[in-house]
This record gives sequence, structure tokens and C-alpha cells, in this order.
Amino acid sequence: MRLTTLGVSSHYPVPGAPCTGMLVEHGAVSVWVDAGPGTLAELQRHLALADVSAVWISHGHADHAADLLPTFYAYRYGHVGAPAAVTVLAPEEVRGRLTGFLGPASGPELDRVFAFDALGDGGRRRFGGMDLRWAAVRHDVPAFALRVEAGGASLVYTGDSAPCAALDQLARGCDLLVSEAGTDRREPGEPPVHLTPEEAGELAQRSGARRLLLTHLALGLDAAEAVRRASARFDGPVEAAVVSGSPMSVVLPTVDT
Ligand SMILES: [Zn+2]
Repeated sequence: MRLTTLGVSSHYPVPGAPCTGMLVEHGAVSVWVDAGPGTLAELQRHLALADVSAVWISHGHADHAADLLPTFYAYRYGHVGAPAAVTVLAPEEVRGRLTGFLGPASGPELDRVFAFDALGDGGRRRFGGMDLRWAAVRHDVPAFALRVEAGGASLVYTGDSAPCAALDQLARGCDLLVSEAGTDRREPGEPPVHLTPEEAGELAQRSGARRLLLTHLALGLDAAEAVRRASARFDGPVEAAVVSGSPMSVVLPTVDT
């Protein structure tokens, strides 16, 4: 199984660093996980759009889902050779958000391009030799975390979530935990909707993950500091999907699992 990070930014894309997204591949199966702004362009460095097996969207926030809109245009008008409607596994509200942009009469055309499959807690789909399972997690809109297993390896992606039992359970014993760290510090009384770097490390430790990859860092949170803070709570290796310093110097690492 191969993970390619397509984007790492939270809230808005910057040059060289689209918002959250990744490509998970095993054999001929390629699943695009989260379509944050900028990830559609980055995806095409690695894969022809006709070869996308499915798209999986963690939740409807724009920094994870907005590139579905230009993706619709690509498949509808771009002559990209997609053989049939592309499966889009996403929370139910996502389809409505797209028709909101495209116009009230767009539904039938949208459904010719995308085969929407609404996510529910405890769902599971199989694409070739790749097994996808997801669970509802704790965010301020309906949101899901994902576990992918293929070729004997396992990868868990938190999506956006505060600490919760569902995340602990889904991440149990995974080879690679890809975790958001979308909160730098939580103010007293602030409702938890993201993980801090410490909480990402604690999640990795509790669940027995072998490695931790941080992404979707809070605005202004230095990547090296995030790694240091997460490492203080986790015995295994920690990396960040961004390089500290100039936003122009972001790297988009490829990780073999
Ligand atoms: Zn979110």
C-alpha cells in the first residue's frame, strides 16, 4: 500500500501546499481521500483521473471537500476518459453542498458523474484488494475517520476529530496513523473539535500505532514543534507532512506502508 500526501494545509491552500488530501494505492486500486482545495491538481501529478477507483470524503468542510466541484467539471467536460460514474463516499450533506453551487437543476447531471454513497457509522467497502472501514468521529459537523487495509498493511486517517473512543478503536494496532493536529492549544471551555499535537501523540500511543504522520496542522503551528510535542506522548516515530519555515518549502512526502 502506498500513501501519497496531496495536501497538508488547514483552512486554505498556500503555494506548494494544498489543503488536506491524500492518495492511497494498492495494485490497480487508487482511492483519493479528501479533496481539499488544490488537491485535484496535485492528484494529477500521480494519477490519471480516469484511474481513480473511488473518492472518500471525511466531512463537508470546504478544506476537505471543495475540490469535488472542479472534479465534477473535469469528469463532465474534461474528456478525461472516466468509464462510468465515479464512486464518491461522503457524508450525506456533501451532495447537497455541490448542488448548492451548481444550481438546483444540477442533480441528475451530478449523479451521472458521481455515484454518491453516503457514509454511515461503521461502514465498509472493498475495492479490489483494498478494504475501507470508517467510523463517525467527533467534529462540529458529521465527520468520519478511515481505516484502510491492503497487502497486510493498515493505515488510519483521523479526518477532522477531537479525541474520541471511536478514533481509539479504529486506529488500534495500525501500521501508520495519519493524524490531524488542527488545534494548537485549546482555551478553557472551548469545545473540542480537533486534536492538539499532544493528543495526536496520545492517540497513537493508546492505539498501539507503529508510526505517526501529522497533517492538517493548526494555522501558525510550526511543523517541527508539532512533531516534538506529539513525540513527547508517543514512543514510535513521528513525522510531519510539512517542513517548518517558509510555506514555499513544504514537501509532500510519499510513504510506503
Ligand atoms: Zn473540519
